[in-house]
Amino acid sequence: MIGGLTHGDVSLGCYTRLRDHIRCWEDLRDAPVAEIHELIRSVEIPEKKAPRLKAALQFVSASQGSLSLDFLGEMPADAAIIRLEKLDGIGRKTSAAVLKFSTLRKAVLLVDTHLLRVAARLGLISRKASIEKAYDTLMPLLPGQWEADDMDNHHQLIKLHGQTLCRPAVPKCGCCPVREVCSCFRSARRSRSGSRPIQSDRPVAPLRHPRLA
Ligand code: SF4
Repeated sequence: MIGGLTHGDVSLGCYTRLRDHIRCWEDLRDAPVAEIHELIRSVEIPEKKAPRLKAALQFVSASQGSLSLDFLGEMPADAAIIRLEKLDGIGRKTSAAVLKFSTLRKAVLLVDTHLLRVAARLGLISRKASIEKAYDTLMPLLPGQWEADDMDNHHQLIKLHGQTLCRPAVPKCGCCPVREVCSCFRSARRSRSGSRPIQSDRPVAPLRHPRLA
């Protein structure tokens, strides 16, 4: 909840400061908003995030009788997402991250900027798709039997692809193992407009995640 719109290093620094000053979730729930604001002042819009953080903890505490998200483990992933997103300041990226990276370990898709860009170029989603729309479109395309570990591998592979080949400014389409199914590549090849540089026609081996190699 504190990381939105903020560089990862800054978010991590604020999280560390919170952990250093606040002993437990209950203390954070009961801390004055001004104190939370001071501890997370380096992130973007701390004036909104501080009260949201406190309100979320108060909501969980009041509705569940304790500060535990274990009740989400009983729910299907879609229902758990809807439940989390009722909280102010929690969108699809945060809800998916909570369900995937916590001990709940649900098989949900984390839509980041790499996945948005790659999926749009492949033609799977609109270039203007929101994170929520992208999630709703892409999630049904993934194998139903996938578990959280499979989602982790998928996330790391798409990130690797986005960092090495399908880069933001100049994608290296000529080296891309999925270029023949990519609408962006096929469109660029048809038009040869030069708007999507094709750097090489040299075929390369498919990307392999280090843990799968
Ligand atoms: S062909 Fe180019 S635009 Fe398409 S996925 Fe590969 S690198 Fe990205």
